[in-house]
Amino acid sequence: MFTVGIDVGSSTTKAVLMNGSDWRCVIRPTGCSPRQAGSEALEELLGQAGLKREDVKCVVGTGYGRISLPFIDKAVTEITCHARGAHHLLQGTDMVVDIGGQDSKVILTDGRGNVVNFAMNDKCAAGTGRFLEVIAAALGADVSELADLARGAEPVQISSMCTVFAESEVISLLAQGVEKGKIIAGIHRSVALRIAAMAERLGKGELILFTGGVAKNEGVREYLSRELGRKAVVTPESQLAGALGAALLARERAWLSRGRGC
Ligand code: ADP
Repeated sequence: MFTVGIDVGSSTTKAVLMNGSDWRCVIRPTGCSPRQAGSEALEELLGQAGLKREDVKCVVGTGYGRISLPFIDKAVTEITCHARGAHHLLQGTDMVVDIGGQDSKVILTDGRGNVVNFAMNDKCAAGTGRFLEVIAAALGADVSELADLARGAEPVQISSMCTVFAESEVISLLAQGVEKGKIIAGIHRSVALRIAAMAERLGKGELILFTGGVAKNEGVREYLSRELGRKAVVTPESQLAGALGAALLARERAWLSRGRGC
Protein backbone atom coordinates (compact mmCIF):
# COMPACT_ATOMS: atom_id res chain seq x y z
CA MET A 1 0.00 0.00 0.00
CA PHE A 2 1.51 3.32 -1.12
CA THR A 3 1.12 6.55 0.83
CA VAL A 4 2.75 9.97 0.37
CA GLY A 5 3.74 12.82 2.68
CA ILE A 6 4.58 16.23 1.22
CA ASP A 7 6.19 18.99 3.27
CA VAL A 8 6.11 22.31 1.41
CA GLY A 9 8.50 24.55 3.34
CA SER A 10 9.53 28.12 2.65
CA SER A 11 12.89 26.97 1.22
CA THR A 12 12.48 23.36 0.16
CA THR A 13 9.71 20.95 -0.71
CA LYS A 14 10.20 17.42 0.50
CA ALA A 15 8.09 14.44 -0.59
CA VAL A 16 8.20 10.88 0.75
CA LEU A 17 6.60 7.82 -0.84
CA MET A 18 6.04 4.99 1.60
CA ASN A 19 5.28 1.35 0.94
CA GLY A 20 5.31 -0.81 4.06
CA SER A 21 8.57 -0.01 5.79
CA ASP A 22 10.29 1.10 2.54
CA TRP A 23 10.37 4.71 1.59
CA ARG A 24 11.95 6.97 -1.01
CA CYS A 25 12.06 10.75 -1.26
CA VAL A 26 12.58 13.79 -3.44
CA ILE A 27 13.65 17.23 -2.31
CA ARG A 28 13.55 20.38 -4.40
CA PRO A 29 13.51 24.16 -3.92
CA THR A 30 10.02 25.58 -3.25
CA GLY A 31 10.61 28.74 -5.30
CA CYS A 32 7.76 31.22 -5.63
CA SER A 33 4.91 28.74 -6.11
CA PRO A 34 4.28 26.27 -3.25
CA ARG A 35 1.47 24.70 -5.27
CA GLN A 36 3.69 24.04 -8.29
CA ALA A 37 6.59 22.82 -6.12
CA GLY A 38 4.27 20.37 -4.36
CA SER A 39 2.76 19.08 -7.63
CA GLU A 40 6.17 18.67 -9.26
CA ALA A 41 7.60 16.87 -6.22
CA LEU A 42 4.67 14.43 -6.27
CA GLU A 43 5.00 13.85 -10.03
CA GLU A 44 8.73 13.24 -9.72
CA LEU A 45 8.25 10.81 -6.86
CA LEU A 46 5.49 8.88 -8.65
CA GLY A 47 7.49 8.94 -11.91
CA GLN A 48 10.52 7.40 -10.17
CA ALA A 49 8.38 4.59 -8.79
CA GLY A 50 6.34 4.10 -12.01
CA LEU A 51 3.08 4.92 -10.18
CA LYS A 52 0.00 7.05 -10.84
CA ARG A 53 -1.82 9.24 -8.29
CA GLU A 54 -4.64 6.62 -8.17
CA ASP A 55 -2.13 4.04 -6.94
CA VAL A 56 -1.53 6.07 -3.77
CA LYS A 57 -4.09 5.45 -1.02
CA CYS A 58 -3.52 8.63 0.92
CA VAL A 59 -1.53 11.86 0.53
CA VAL A 60 -0.95 14.06 3.59
CA GLY A 61 0.39 17.60 3.12
CA THR A 62 2.25 19.66 5.70
CA GLY A 63 4.50 22.72 5.89
CA TYR A 64 3.55 26.34 5.34
CA GLY A 65 2.46 25.62 1.73
CA ARG A 66 0.11 22.73 2.61
CA ILE A 67 -3.05 24.80 2.16
CA SER A 68 -2.22 25.45 -1.49
CA LEU A 69 -2.00 21.77 -2.48
CA PRO A 70 -5.17 20.72 -4.32
CA PHE A 71 -4.22 17.04 -4.65
CA ILE A 72 -3.80 16.10 -0.98
CA ASP A 73 -6.34 14.10 1.04
CA LYS A 74 -5.53 15.79 4.35
CA ALA A 75 -3.47 18.70 5.67
CA VAL A 76 -1.70 18.20 9.01
CA THR A 77 0.40 20.72 10.98
CA GLU A 78 4.19 20.58 10.82
CA ILE A 79 4.33 20.12 14.58
CA THR A 80 2.38 16.84 14.45
CA CYS A 81 4.28 15.60 11.38
CA HIS A 82 7.74 16.45 12.76
CA ALA A 83 6.98 14.68 16.03
CA ARG A 84 5.86 11.55 14.19
CA GLY A 85 8.73 11.62 11.68
CA ALA A 86 11.32 12.24 14.40
CA HIS A 87 10.16 9.20 16.37
CA HIS A 88 10.53 7.09 13.21
CA LEU A 89 14.06 8.38 12.60
CA LEU A 90 15.16 8.05 16.23
CA GLN A 91 13.00 5.78 18.40
CA GLY A 92 12.25 7.27 21.79
CA THR A 93 12.94 10.90 20.80
CA ASP A 94 11.23 13.11 23.36
CA MET A 95 12.36 16.51 22.07
CA VAL A 96 12.54 17.71 18.47
CA VAL A 97 14.40 20.86 17.52
CA ASP A 98 13.49 21.89 13.99
CA ILE A 99 15.27 24.79 12.32
CA GLY A 100 13.98 25.40 8.81
CA GLY A 101 14.21 28.21 6.31
CA GLN A 102 11.74 30.60 7.88
CA ASP A 103 10.87 29.29 11.30
CA SER A 104 12.23 27.33 14.21
CA LYS A 105 10.42 25.17 16.71
CA VAL A 106 10.99 22.96 19.70
CA ILE A 107 8.54 20.11 20.24
CA LEU A 108 8.24 18.09 23.41
CA THR A 109 6.82 14.61 22.74
CA ASP A 110 5.76 11.59 24.78
CA GLY A 111 8.62 9.51 23.35
CA ARG A 112 6.18 7.71 21.03
CA GLY A 113 5.76 10.41 18.38
CA ASN A 114 2.87 12.34 19.97
CA VAL A 115 3.09 16.06 20.75
CA VAL A 116 2.99 17.08 24.42
CA ASN A 117 3.89 20.77 24.02
CA PHE A 118 5.75 23.04 21.63
CA ALA A 119 7.25 26.51 21.18
CA MET A 120 7.64 28.14 17.81
CA ASN A 121 9.28 31.20 16.32
CA ASP A 122 7.73 32.12 12.98
CA LYS A 123 7.64 35.87 13.55
CA CYS A 124 11.30 36.75 13.32
CA ALA A 125 14.08 35.52 11.02
CA ALA A 126 16.67 35.36 13.83
CA GLY A 127 17.32 31.75 14.81
CA THR A 128 16.20 30.41 11.43
CA GLY A 129 17.88 29.22 8.24
CA ARG A 130 17.11 32.58 6.64
CA PHE A 131 19.24 34.31 9.29
CA LEU A 132 22.19 32.05 8.38
CA GLU A 133 21.61 32.70 4.67
CA VAL A 134 21.69 36.49 5.19
CA ILE A 135 24.89 36.28 7.26
CA ALA A 136 26.52 33.88 4.76
CA ALA A 137 25.76 36.33 1.93
CA ALA A 138 27.28 39.22 3.93
CA LEU A 139 30.43 37.12 4.31
CA GLY A 140 30.51 36.13 0.64
CA ALA A 141 29.90 32.46 1.47
CA ASP A 142 27.21 29.83 1.00
CA VAL A 143 25.32 28.39 4.00
CA SER A 144 26.78 24.98 3.22
CA GLU A 145 30.30 26.40 3.81
CA LEU A 146 29.66 28.04 7.19
CA ALA A 147 30.56 25.06 9.39
CA ASP A 148 33.89 24.50 7.62
CA LEU A 149 34.78 28.19 7.78
CA ALA A 150 34.13 28.30 11.54
CA ARG A 151 35.77 24.99 12.50
CA GLY A 152 37.97 25.41 15.57
CA ALA A 153 37.42 29.20 15.80
CA GLU A 154 36.63 30.97 19.09
CA PRO A 155 33.22 32.66 18.78
CA VAL A 156 32.95 36.44 18.98
CA GLN A 157 30.05 37.91 20.90
CA ILE A 158 27.17 38.84 18.59
CA SER A 159 24.97 41.26 20.47
CA SER A 160 22.22 41.97 17.91
CA MET A 161 19.18 39.72 18.08
CA CYS A 162 17.60 41.10 14.91
CA THR A 163 18.73 39.74 11.52
CA VAL A 164 19.14 43.17 9.94
CA PHE A 165 21.21 44.52 12.87
CA ALA A 166 23.22 41.29 13.12
CA GLU A 167 24.09 41.64 9.43
CA SER A 168 25.34 45.21 10.06
CA GLU A 169 27.27 43.97 13.11
CA VAL A 170 28.93 41.27 11.00
CA ILE A 171 29.91 43.82 8.36
CA SER A 172 31.47 46.11 10.96
CA LEU A 173 33.31 43.18 12.63
CA LEU A 174 34.76 42.31 9.21
CA ALA A 175 35.81 45.96 8.75
CA GLN A 176 37.59 45.79 12.14
CA GLY A 177 39.58 42.83 10.82
CA VAL A 178 37.92 40.11 12.90
CA GLU A 179 38.43 36.69 11.31
CA LYS A 180 35.47 35.29 9.39
CA GLY A 181 35.64 32.00 11.28
CA LYS A 182 35.25 33.73 14.65
CA ILE A 183 32.29 35.74 13.37
CA ILE A 184 30.57 32.64 11.99
CA ALA A 185 31.20 30.72 15.22
CA GLY A 186 29.56 33.65 17.08
CA ILE A 187 26.59 33.49 14.72
CA HIS A 188 26.23 29.73 15.24
CA ARG A 189 26.29 30.24 18.98
CA SER A 190 23.70 33.02 18.79
CA VAL A 191 21.31 30.69 16.88
CA ALA A 192 21.89 27.94 19.47
CA LEU A 193 21.26 30.36 22.36
CA ARG A 194 17.94 31.44 20.88
CA ILE A 195 16.77 27.88 20.40
CA ALA A 196 17.97 26.79 23.85
CA ALA A 197 15.96 29.64 25.42
CA MET A 198 12.87 28.38 23.59
CA ALA A 199 13.56 24.78 24.71
CA GLU A 200 14.03 25.83 28.32
CA ARG A 201 10.45 27.11 28.47
CA LEU A 202 9.24 23.59 27.65
CA GLY A 203 11.37 21.46 29.94
CA LYS A 204 14.21 18.99 29.48
CA GLY A 205 14.53 16.48 26.68
CA GLU A 206 16.38 13.21 27.26
CA LEU A 207 16.73 12.23 23.61
CA ILE A 208 16.84 15.22 21.28
CA LEU A 209 16.57 14.98 17.49
CA PHE A 210 17.65 18.00 15.45
CA THR A 211 15.63 18.28 12.22
CA GLY A 212 15.31 20.76 9.33
CA GLY A 213 17.90 21.92 6.82
CA VAL A 214 19.98 23.75 9.45
CA ALA A 215 20.72 20.36 11.06
CA LYS A 216 23.25 19.96 8.23
CA ASN A 217 25.33 22.71 9.82
CA GLU A 218 27.82 21.03 12.16
CA GLY A 219 28.64 24.33 13.88
CA VAL A 220 25.03 24.99 14.91
CA ARG A 221 24.77 21.33 15.95
CA GLU A 222 27.74 21.61 18.31
CA TYR A 223 26.63 24.83 20.00
CA LEU A 224 23.08 23.56 20.25
CA SER A 225 24.26 20.40 22.05
CA ARG A 226 26.36 22.56 24.36
CA GLU A 227 23.52 24.99 25.17
CA LEU A 228 20.91 22.24 25.60
CA GLY A 229 23.24 20.25 27.83
CA ARG A 230 22.56 17.13 25.72
CA LYS A 231 23.62 15.94 22.30
CA ALA A 232 21.38 17.22 19.50
CA VAL A 233 21.28 14.06 17.38
CA VAL A 234 21.18 14.38 13.59
CA THR A 235 20.41 11.65 11.08
CA PRO A 236 21.09 11.84 7.32
CA GLU A 237 17.29 12.14 6.88
CA SER A 238 16.81 14.95 9.44
CA GLN A 239 15.60 17.43 6.79
CA LEU A 240 12.88 14.95 5.78
CA ALA A 241 11.30 14.47 9.22
CA GLY A 242 8.15 16.48 8.39
CA ALA A 243 7.48 14.73 5.06
CA LEU A 244 8.23 11.35 6.60
CA GLY A 245 5.82 12.04 9.47
CA ALA A 246 3.17 13.07 6.93
CA ALA A 247 3.67 9.81 4.99
CA LEU A 248 3.37 7.82 8.24
CA LEU A 249 0.16 9.63 9.18
CA ALA A 250 -1.16 8.98 5.65
CA ARG A 251 -0.39 5.28 6.17
CA GLU A 252 -2.31 5.25 9.47
CA ARG A 253 -5.30 6.93 7.83
CA ALA A 254 -5.26 4.44 4.96
CA TRP A 255 -5.08 1.53 7.41
CA LEU A 256 -8.02 2.91 9.37
CA SER A 257 -10.07 3.04 6.18
CA ARG A 258 -8.89 -0.51 5.36
CA GLY A 259 -7.14 0.67 2.21
CA ARG A 260 -10.31 2.21 0.73
CA GLY A 261 -8.93 5.74 0.72
CA CYS A 262 -8.28 8.17 3.51
P1 ADP B 1 11.89 24.68 5.09
O1 ADP B 1 11.31 23.34 5.49
O2 ADP B 1 11.41 25.81 5.95
O3 ADP B 1 11.73 24.94 3.63
P2 ADP B 1 14.48 23.43 5.44
O4 ADP B 1 14.21 22.56 6.61
O5 ADP B 1 14.58 22.78 4.12
O6 ADP B 1 13.44 24.63 5.39
O7 ADP B 1 15.81 24.24 5.77
C1 ADP B 1 16.28 25.25 4.92
C2 ADP B 1 17.49 25.87 5.56
O8 ADP B 1 18.49 24.86 5.74
C3 ADP B 1 18.14 26.94 4.71
O9 ADP B 1 17.62 28.20 5.03
C4 ADP B 1 19.63 26.84 5.09
O10 ADP B 1 19.92 27.75 6.13
C5 ADP B 1 19.78 25.43 5.65
N1 ADP B 1 20.58 24.57 4.78
C6 ADP B 1 20.17 23.98 3.65
N2 ADP B 1 21.17 23.24 3.11
C7 ADP B 1 22.24 23.38 3.93
C8 ADP B 1 23.59 22.85 3.94
N3 ADP B 1 24.02 22.05 2.97
N4 ADP B 1 24.40 23.20 4.95
C9 ADP B 1 23.95 24.01 5.94
N5 ADP B 1 22.71 24.54 6.00
C10 ADP B 1 21.86 24.22 5.01
